[in-house]
Amino acid sequence: KRKPRILILGAGYGGMMTASRLSKQLGYNDAEIILVNKHNYHYQTTWLHEPAAGTLHHDRTRMRIDSVIDTNKVKFIKDVVVEIKASDKKVILEGHGELEYDYLVIGLGSEPETFGIPGVEEHAFSIRSVNSVRQIREHIEYMFASYNNSEVKHDDYLTFIVAGAGFTGIEFVGELTERIPELCKEYDIDRSKVKILSVEAAPTALPGFDPELVDYAMSLLESRGVEFKISTPIKEVTKDGVILATGDEIKSKTIVWTTGVRGSSILDKSGFETMRGRIKVEKDMRAPGHDDVFIIGDCALIINEEINRPYPPTAQIAIQQSYTVSKNVKALLSGSSELEEFKPDIKGTVASLGGGEAIGIVGTKKLYGGSASTMKKIIDNRYLYLLGGLPLVVKKGKLNLFS
Ligand code: FAD
Ligand code: NAD
Repeated sequence: KRKPRILILGAGYGGMMTASRLSKQLGYNDAEIILVNKHNYHYQTTWLHEPAAGTLHHDRTRMRIDSVIDTNKVKFIKDVVVEIKASDKKVILEGHGELEYDYLVIGLGSEPETFGIPGVEEHAFSIRSVNSVRQIREHIEYMFASYNNSEVKHDDYLTFIVAGAGFTGIEFVGELTERIPELCKEYDIDRSKVKILSVEAAPTALPGFDPELVDYAMSLLESRGVEFKISTPIKEVTKDGVILATGDEIKSKTIVWTTGVRGSSILDKSGFETMRGRIKVEKDMRAPGHDDVFIIGDCALIINEEINRPYPPTAQIAIQQSYTVSKNVKALLSGSSELEEFKPDIKGTVASLGGGEAIGIVGTKKLYGGSASTMKKIIDNRYLYLLGGLPLVVKKGKLNLFS
């Protein structure tokens, strides 16, 4: 008799941790575990603002999947998922054709939310993968190189617009303030010629976050030369810049789009019912109506019942969900129908501001500056520890905790 097949789609936080946990919890004969991912490496999405600005090499954020996952127990297939046919218990892959499953875990992550704003897909960059951030870093540097090598001085080459001042936008702007002075030096350009604009639709940066910490972050970033344009929705992106809701135009050759995320478009394409591309899961993390399909991470929508609104999609939640999902897959395999309910245990939120600075709330405690930055590195290292133990922390971790 064929072993039951567990198919995990996506090697992000959710997929990697589920594969890792199942490989430890199940014996060779219990199941066949297959992990599918479009690259042969796993990258840490939460670090991507750094290689995007060029303050950290992208190789620091990624690792070969077969160097972390026990390949005796998990078969890794490098391929792109094209469609999920849940009614046939099959997944269509770009290169390997159809793959059947008994249990499916979908962890394909998210895509940039454009809200259908014209020009975003064609003209804006986004911070979403190693490939996308490598292009941003190169492009920024190219703008510096191009500015000096043309007779006419194009100010728009040195205007960098970050659309959306949520956590991703703010973390990226923080890194830019570190990187721009280096580039100015390297390319003989006066710092005063360079503009970093953070354009936010809401009446404040980081809407919904602690106002005192938001003030701290904004003042710090302003002191490093960031210009905030608050209550300023962008209504269009063109090849020349952005057009604001007021009709005003800001000219720029670099627009980085960070106005939030939606779930992987594969879910919509596969006919699942979604909200902003995410599947509102049952308490046991299964897709409604599909007893053998679990959803994890940014593809899953879970509601915070205290405020009756969705939890923001985070790595923290994706990692926690992997514990419930792997436990529940194991329970189904052993014939049990008693599944665990997922309850997030939000430890806090810490956001980096670049240059050894950060802000955050951990438990009920507010953190600023250096102590918040140290905490951020501890959180990053903790994930590596959960995934690959101490050796992975030593190899890939942020070991310099205090700078
Ligand atoms: P991901 O980790 O994004 O992984 C998805 C995987 O699926 C990727 O490996 C991708 O290559 C693969 N994939 C996608 N489509 C396909 C396909 N069609 N076929 C095959 N493979 C595919 N959260 C926090 O908790 N704390 C933070 O400090 C934090 N900082 C962040 C900073 C930045 C700059 C960003 C962008 C996000 C941050 N987040 C943070 C959010 C966090 O990164 C996400 O919530 C988290 O990555 C979700 O994990 P996931 O497993 O769902 O998806
Ligand atoms: P977000 O939804 O948190 O922020 C997007 C911002 O863009 C909002 O402030 C919104 O008002 C603004 N916006 C929307 N449309 C706009 C427009 N047309 N013009 C100008 N501004 C516009 O999204 P994000 O920052 O991309 O983060 C995605 C997810 O990742 C979130 O769940 C976030 O919590 C998580 N994340 C966490 C961390 C951390 O914990 N350190 C860091 C990055 C991201």
